[in-house]
Amino acid sequence: MDTVLEISQLGNPVLRQQAKPVEHIQHAETQQLIDHLITTMLESAGVGIAAPQVGESLQIMVVASRPTLRYPQAPSMEPVAMINPEIVSQSDDRLKSWEGCLSIPGVRGQVPRSQAITVTYTDRQGHSHQQEFTDFVARIVQHEFDHLQGTVFLDRVENTQEIMTEQEYQKHALV
Ligand code: ZN
Repeated sequence: MDTVLEISQLGNPVLRQQAKPVEHIQHAETQQLIDHLITTMLESAGVGIAAPQVGESLQIMVVASRPTLRYPQAPSMEPVAMINPEIVSQSDDRLKSWEGCLSIPGVRGQVPRSQAITVTYTDRQGHSHQQEFTDFVARIVQHEFDHLQGTVFLDRVENTQEIMTEQEYQKHALV
């Protein structure tokens, strides 16, 4: 339960692969991977994580908004594992906000994201869901979903001047 996995860093090819759908959700291996993803995310003070970030090219992502040092205004929610997720609709109104990534430590960038999205996914018990997310949680879902397509937030930054180090972010951008 308490295993913390090594996080793949930018440059690792696994972060650039299209992740494969999970076929056997109930298998012990899959359930254990989900446990390890949650533990690794919590230990790293992340608000989300995707399986490619621990070297597994599978369509599993965990979303767990909570207030952290990096995201003090985040709403609290229990970690939700989303398996084989699909974004079925997204709002046209896109908001820019700062993002970071456990796989790109020390870097922040302004990323435009849809304010509201509707996602379908299978949970770890094998049940299907369709759910709408808004604002910060919608941002996390879009960020983690990108990881399953081999995309990282830096790919979506529109201008390199909208990138800063974590250190400068802590000084200037915490608003
Ligand atoms: Zn990330």
